[in-house]
Amino acid sequence: MIGIFGGTFDPVHYGHIKPALSIKAALNLSQLRIVPNSIPPHRDPPWLSTEQRLLLLKSALADHADVIIDERELKRGGASYMIDTLRSLRGEFPDEDLCLIIGMDAFMGITSWFEWQSLFALCHLVVTTRPGFEQSEWMDQMDAEDHQFLSARMVGHVDALTPHETGKILLQSVPQLDISSTEIRAGLLNNDDVRQWMPERVYQQLREIKL
Ligand code: ATP
Repeated sequence: MIGIFGGTFDPVHYGHIKPALSIKAALNLSQLRIVPNSIPPHRDPPWLSTEQRLLLLKSALADHADVIIDERELKRGGASYMIDTLRSLRGEFPDEDLCLIIGMDAFMGITSWFEWQSLFALCHLVVTTRPGFEQSEWMDQMDAEDHQFLSARMVGHVDALTPHETGKILLQSVPQLDISSTEIRAGLLNNDDVRQWMPERVYQQLREIKL
């Protein structure tokens, strides 16, 4: 099974890397593909340029030669829709199952994703725990039809994914790191110590870029 972990990575931090690596191990993934998104011109640009986001991501994963940084959304440009990325990967790897890895905060917004229900015909979804985001409150408040659609797909254990090629949702506990790129950006501007949240060389490069 191939794992796909998308994000803006503005900048990358341990809250991205550690959960993604823990899923790679827990699901015994044949590949872990990290997919930085491209930002459409009509939205606020990220704090870092595309080149800087990519540079830091490469640097953060330099010790993990088995993790692939997949640049297809950057090359495609424009709005990055996960459905397009999954279709592209499906075409490239027709014989492998795909699983999309997202944090609980991203899962809470999934019903607003472009063609969101079609995602489940292409991949499994693995939702990782994230401090500050509890599933129960959110699911209780959602539209009944969407609730039914999602809850019917939930499985309780990794082994329940493999008999199916696509369409299941697994909630998986991962190392809990209470950090976000937003807090790192604010911390750097405030001169707070954000060093602990990323590999040292990423921190040094980030300081060079921003100070
Ligand atoms: P920002 O603060 O700029 O919104 P972010 O830190 O949430 O950024 P993204 O690049 O938007 O990072 O997230 C990419 C993916 O990583 C998402 O699926 C998100 O849920 C997940 N993620 C980010 N931070 C954590 C964390 N601390 N723990 C678990 N998952 C996380």
